Amino acid sequence: MSNYIDPHIHMVSRTTDDYKRMALAGCVMVSEPAFWAGFDRSGPEGFRDYFRQLTAYEKNRAAAYGIAHHCWLCINAKEAENVELSRAVIKMIPEFIENDCVLGIGEIGLNKNTRNEATVFLEHLDLAAELDELVLVHTPHLVDKYQGTRMILDMVRDEKRIAPHRVLIDHVEEHTIKPALDAGHWVGMTLYPISKCTPARAADMIEMYGTERIMVNSAGDWGHSDPLAVPEFIFEMRSRGHDEATIRKITFDNPLSFFKQCRRFKPEKLRIGG
Ligand SMILES: [Zn+2]
Repeated sequence: MSNYIDPHIHMVSRTTDDYKRMALAGCVMVSEPAFWAGFDRSGPEGFRDYFRQLTAYEKNRAAAYGIAHHCWLCINAKEAENVELSRAVIKMIPEFIENDCVLGIGEIGLNKNTRNEATVFLEHLDLAAELDELVLVHTPHLVDKYQGTRMILDMVRDEKRIAPHRVLIDHVEEHTIKPALDAGHWVGMTLYPISKCTPARAADMIEMYGTERIMVNSAGDWGHSDPLAVPEFIFEMRSRGHDEATIRKITFDNPLSFFKQCRRFKPEKLRIGG
């Protein structure tokens, strides 16, 4: 068993048993981006409670299993269609951002690639630049992915105050990984049982593009997903004969290097076994 980090998982939607199974599989840290709840919240105060849950409560549930819990704050792309609500939520973020467990602004992004989503994306980027925060970006699903990723990369490139290596482009697939890496960003491959990227497809991409600035995550949430997807990837890599140093770089060292750019992050607090 090797220690690993799941850099994108929505633990508030998972059970305590999942924390235990992840700890048994070697998980020592999770990073939880702010996300859609499965329904549209009725107003900004719903986000205030969600941010309280992410920054003040979830880490206790994780700590019981020796897992460090960190999080990201934003209004997700699905609810960003409501620009007025989004602005109220963005205004609330500075109240929570200085909490030690917060890594930055995310997962911001696009869903259906609409004008309102782009407006809210840009306003999040402006806040991240203002506060000198890391950014975690959700790229759209399936038919909207290629176009949405292009739009996102253009908008990030035009925000000159944010260096490319301070942005993680998540849910990359075969057709979007290269432009994101070429732009100087970190990338995340999401290991889903059916859509996005399977462990085998992720291992293929590692073999094609190497291990620089690449990480893998489960993006486990309340939907069809697997909180043990990162160990599945480790298993796939081992079965292909990749060495432990390569596997550790992708599943531990790389997410750590990205997170270390956050001034609040203290990696020495991780409980790392043998
Ligand atoms: Zn997510």
